[in-house]
Amino acid sequence: DLVYLNGEWLAPENAKVSVFDRGFLFADGIYEVIPVYQGRPFLAEHHLARLHNSLTAIGIVDQGEHFWRALINELIARNKLSDALLYFQVTRGAEAKRSHLPEGQPSPTIFANHSPLSVHWNTPEPAKVVLCDDIRWLRCDIKSISLLGNIMLKQFAQQHNAIEPILQRNGYITEGASSNYFAVKDGVIYTAPANHLILPGITRMWVLRLAQQLGLTVREEPFPSADLAQLDELFLTSSSREVQPIAQIDDIIIADGRCGPITKQLVEAFHQSKRAHLA
Ligand code: PMP
Repeated sequence: DLVYLNGEWLAPENAKVSVFDRGFLFADGIYEVIPVYQGRPFLAEHHLARLHNSLTAIGIVDQGEHFWRALINELIARNKLSDALLYFQVTRGAEAKRSHLPEGQPSPTIFANHSPLSVHWNTPEPAKVVLCDDIRWLRCDIKSISLLGNIMLKQFAQQHNAIEPILQRNGYITEGASSNYFAVKDGVIYTAPANHLILPGITRMWVLRLAQQLGLTVREEPFPSADLAQLDELFLTSSSREVQPIAQIDDIIIADGRCGPITKQLVEAFHQSKRAHLA
């Protein structure tokens, strides 16, 4: 099991960074997660575009697509990965002393490793979410390693036997703490617009495309949390969860609590697109 740190391949226990790393001191960095199915990265170009956008947003120079492609391939090859989640983290780097404003241009700290991924081929069991106020900052489009809000919200969800907190800001659903949502009402699919209030999920983007290909009606517009109780279907998307049906929000059971037809259609379309990717 080898991890990458600043040009070296190391056993995980030998990968060490300075206590003056701005990632450690300020969470001054960004990350990206890319799923790998049977040794092949899935939708990598979209993940790398998002990585680029996050780096650019916080003023870290992107190493470039060529660098990341090579790193992805080497991470897969060195660890003989089949199904996995690849993790990439870039912080602004280490400095001589702690100061909020970076002094000069430290060289970024680049870290990569992997974790197991269980690929879904069946429709997952519908699960429970809890509705929470979105206590995070206003640049959720940046995939920041500063995840304190997300962690607190996820702890709350866990305490309430829910798989995820679903977040509302000013009366509208934004996303989950590590997922995007799709709500179905009267045959129309709603998902939050990709603005600064959500992370533009790659799975979200992919599911939007699949829905369009299937001729389903999708509206990228804010969905009011007050209307959750009247929903016909709800599901979450993320690289690790793929398409996850939701049966319950707090004490409210959605429709009959079973996976709805549109969700099922998209779960199957997603599986189909994975098969096509592997063919
Ligand atoms: N929103 C947030 C806040 C997330 O952390 C994630 C997953 N990292 C997502 C949405 C889903 O993104 P993706 O589909 O690219 O995994």
